[in-house]
Amino acid sequence: MAVILLIEDDAGIRSALARAMAERGHAVQWQPAGLSGLRSVIDARPDVVLLDLGLPDVDGQQVLGMLRAVSDVPVIVITARDDDADIVAALDAGADDFVTKPFGADHLDARIRAVLRRSAGSRAEQPLVAGGLVVDPRTRAATLDGRALELSRKEFDLLLALAQRAGEVVTKRDLLAEVWRLPYGGGERTVDVHLSWLRRKLGETAAEPRYLHSVRGVGVRLSPPAPETEG
Ligand code: CA
Repeated sequence: MAVILLIEDDAGIRSALARAMAERGHAVQWQPAGLSGLRSVIDARPDVVLLDLGLPDVDGQQVLGMLRAVSDVPVIVITARDDDADIVAALDAGADDFVTKPFGADHLDARIRAVLRRSAGSRAEQPLVAGGLVVDPRTRAATLDGRALELSRKEFDLLLALAQRAGEVVTKRDLLAEVWRLPYGGGERTVDVHLSWLRRKLGETAAEPRYLHSVRGVGVRLSPPAPETEG
C-alpha cells in the first residue's frame, strides 16, 4: 500500500483513478492544480506522485522542476500527449516513469509498484567505490577524491548506472532504458549530452578519459584510472 498524491485537473479522471487505486489498497489524495499539488508534496509527503502534464495554472513540466527542487519522491507523469519530445523532457526533468492516456488501472498500479520497488531498493544500497570515485545511492551524493560533485538528478542517475556495472561496457540503449526509462531506444543524443556534462564535472574529456571510457559503436565503461606508478 502506498500513499498516492494525484495532481490532475480533470475531475472525471480524478475520481476514476482515486477509486481504482483505493480498490488496490492505496491511500489516494488529490489536488486539481500544480501549485496546490506542490504544497501537498511538501505537507503530505506521499510515497508516489501521479502528475498530469496539462494543468490549468502551471505547466506540468514546470511543476516537475519545482517539485524536484524540494523532493525526491517518485513521480509518474500522466500525459495525453503521445509525443516523444514531451516524454523525454519530463524524464529529463526528473520524472521516474510515464503513462499515456488512456491507460488501465492495473497498468498504472504495476508502474506504481515498480517505482516504489526502485526507490526502496536504492535506499538499501551501499556506496559504490571505483578508485577515487564514491557514489552513494542512498544519499544520492557522489565524491571524487574526497570532493563533493554537484550533479543534476540525471547526471547522478547516469553515474550510478555506470558505477553499478563498473568495468563493463554499458550500451547507450541500456542507459536509456535504465536512466531515462526509454526501453525502445532512440534519444542516444540525450545520453551523449549528459555524458559530456558528467565528464566536465569529473574533470575529464572524451579524448582524455579517466573514469568514463567511450567504446566506439558499443557504449561506455566506468573504470578507475590505473594507480600512478613511480618511475
Ligand atoms: Ca489535464
